[in-house]
Amino acid sequence: MTKTLLSIALLGLLTTAQASEVNVYSSRHYQSDDQLYAAFTQATGIKVNRIEAKDEELVERLKAEGERSPADVLILADAARLQAAQDAGLLASLDSATLKQRIPEQFREAGNHWFGFSARARVIAYDPGLVSEAQAKNYALLADPAMKGKVCVRSGAHPYNLSLLGAMMVNEGEAKATAWAKGVVDNLARKPKGGDTDQIRAIAAGDCAVALTNSYYYLRLARSSKPEDEKVIERVKMAFPDMAGKGSHVNVSGGGMATNAPHPAEAVKLLEFLATDEAQAYFANGNNEFTVVAGVKLDNPELNAVANFKADVLNAAAIGAKRNEAAKIMDMVGWK
Ligand code: FE
Repeated sequence: MTKTLLSIALLGLLTTAQASEVNVYSSRHYQSDDQLYAAFTQATGIKVNRIEAKDEELVERLKAEGERSPADVLILADAARLQAAQDAGLLASLDSATLKQRIPEQFREAGNHWFGFSARARVIAYDPGLVSEAQAKNYALLADPAMKGKVCVRSGAHPYNLSLLGAMMVNEGEAKATAWAKGVVDNLARKPKGGDTDQIRAIAAGDCAVALTNSYYYLRLARSSKPEDEKVIERVKMAFPDMAGKGSHVNVSGGGMATNAPHPAEAVKLLEFLATDEAQAYFANGNNEFTVVAGVKLDNPELNAVANFKADVLNAAAIGAKRNEAAKIMDMVGWK
């Protein structure tokens, strides 16, 4: 009898212990995310165990772990990666009235497998001494023969560029998108290398006149008080380019519940927390990303100053779905 009672008590303890944590696999590598998860724990009492690795590693790990995976929530940057994770069967459909109500349709997958929690535009960084603002306000500039030898850009295999090309395929058709990618390759100042920030720095160094970057990388430099970053921003400007009259390509960082989540209730709580005003402000203030929820008060003058740009409203999942076709075009035109 005593033994049984003890077992029940122990079981209760165990259940409580298990129920008060959530395991997050995240490829986001931004410092502001520490505060974000701490705020969640403070609000809910749920402990967050975070495993951080590169997107591909997390996806491979989830696949290898299969049904025994401890992952509850998967967080990835870019719709191309989120859609790939869904197509690999790694994300569960999650019916949350809160998420549907908070996150606009554009930023979530229609079957509720993943949700965007922060948004970023793929913009043009340029040297105003060599390129006019009007020129920089269109992606066509990068493929313009006048820019021969003046374009810096990261690998065409990177999801950020696959998604941009994918959006172009949807908005302008495959032929035009292919011609554009070919035009960019013809204009390269150097072989694609490095991340987006490296391309911005290359403009400041005089290696090229224009580059593609996600908006938050430019804004991070613009908010930096390091003298070397201030010098870069003095020399390099940012423009929100148009695509087919629809505005700038917008992508997301987001996540969903893992298919075999051992703590589904906690996973839902965390995902819903990411859509609160509080969490949205962390993304925007800490990492200079745009909120997906409208009307959140932000303490980020640089971000606020550009937040009303004309943004393409193409659904993020529709963009992610184009990644394989986009990769074929990148291969074909030699954007390595
Ligand atoms: Fe990034």
